Amino acid sequence: MQFRKEFKFILITAFIFVLEFSFLERDAFAANGICNQGVSTLIGASNKQIARSGLGQMPKQPEPVEPNEPEELEILRKAFPDILFTAVYDKEHEDWQIEVAFTTGSKASEIFYWSEGRLLPENQLKNKNLYLSIFEDYPVETELQDPATYSQEQIEEYRNAGAASTRQNEPFPAIFILDFIYSSSTRKKVEQHLSKVKFLGLTVTVSERVVKPLAAVEKKILELKKTNKTVANFLEKDLDHLEGYNWRDIRDADRKSLHSVGIAIDFLPPKLNRHIYWRWTKDQKGEKWMLVPLTSRWMPPYEIINLFEEEGFIWGGKWLIWDNMHFEYRPELIEYYRWKNKKSE
Ligand SMILES: [Zn+2]
Repeated sequence: MQFRKEFKFILITAFIFVLEFSFLERDAFAANGICNQGVSTLIGASNKQIARSGLGQMPKQPEPVEPNEPEELEILRKAFPDILFTAVYDKEHEDWQIEVAFTTGSKASEIFYWSEGRLLPENQLKNKNLYLSIFEDYPVETELQDPATYSQEQIEEYRNAGAASTRQNEPFPAIFILDFIYSSSTRKKVEQHLSKVKFLGLTVTVSERVVKPLAAVEKKILELKKTNKTVANFLEKDLDHLEGYNWRDIRDADRKSLHSVGIAIDFLPPKLNRHIYWRWTKDQKGEKWMLVPLTSRWMPPYEIINLFEEEGFIWGGKWLIWDNMHFEYRPELIEYYRWKNKKSE
C-alpha cells in the first residue's frame, strides 16, 4: 500500500514537472523567435475558435494587392489602333497575361506574357533571359552627334555595341509580338501578307500593314521636294533602288532581321563609295569605325528622316551600330520615345 502511494506521488510529480518544462521551453523558443511558426499557428487556431464562438472579431486580412496593368500597354494601343491589348493578371505566373487580338480581318488572337515588356508566349517564359524588352530607345527628331566630339566613354559604348552584336547568346529584343502583328512567324505565313508597292518611282515588297504609312511618307516627301533643293537632289542623284522583304533562314542564336518580317526597307545609292554600314566600315577601318566623319557617310537628308519618323518609321543611322540605308516601321518605338519624354517633363 505504502509503496503504491509513494509511486503515485512520484508519478504525479513527474507529470507536473514534464508539463511545466514543456511550457517553459515553448516560451523560451517563442522569445527567441525560433518557434514563430508554431506560435502563429496557435494564435490562428485560437482566433478561429473565438470567431466561431462569436466572442471576438477576426482582424481583417489585407486583400492581396493586384498591381496596375503595365503603363506601356497604352503605347501599343496608340501604335496599333486596330489591335486590342487586354491585360489580365495571372496569379500563377505572377505576371500580366496580354491577349492581343485583331479587331478586323481574321480577328485572330494570341496570349502573351508581359515579362517586363518582352511580351513572350508562355512556352518562352523559361528562356526569358535570352530576350530584352521590345521597347528599345530610339531618339526621334534628333540629329547625329559629330563623332569628332565623342568622349572616351561614348567610343567605348559604340565598341561594346559592335562586340555584342557578334556575340552568341547575347540577349536581344523579343519580336514574338511583331511576328503576331505582321504574321511573320514562318516564311509561308509572311508571304501571304506581303504587298509589292511603288515608292518614289521604285519598287519594293513590304508587309501589307506598311503600305499605308509608306504611302503617307511618300506624299509628304513629294510635297517637300517641290520646295526643298536638298531633298530634290537626293531623290534624283543619291537614291538608286530599294530592298524590302527578304526572308533569311537564321540560326537560333542570331537575331532575326526585320527584313524577314516585311517592315524594313533599305535605301541604296547608285554607288557604294561612302560609308553606309558600320560592319563594312569596321572591316575596312578596324576598331575606329565609329569615328568616321558624318560627311564621309551616305545618309538621307534629315528632312526625309523626320518625315519617316512622323509616320512611325525609325532610321538605322541613329543606332550605335549604324545602318544608314535602313528604315523600319516601328510605330511602337516612336510612341515609346514620346511617352518617355512626356513622363520626364
Ligand atoms: Zn536593312
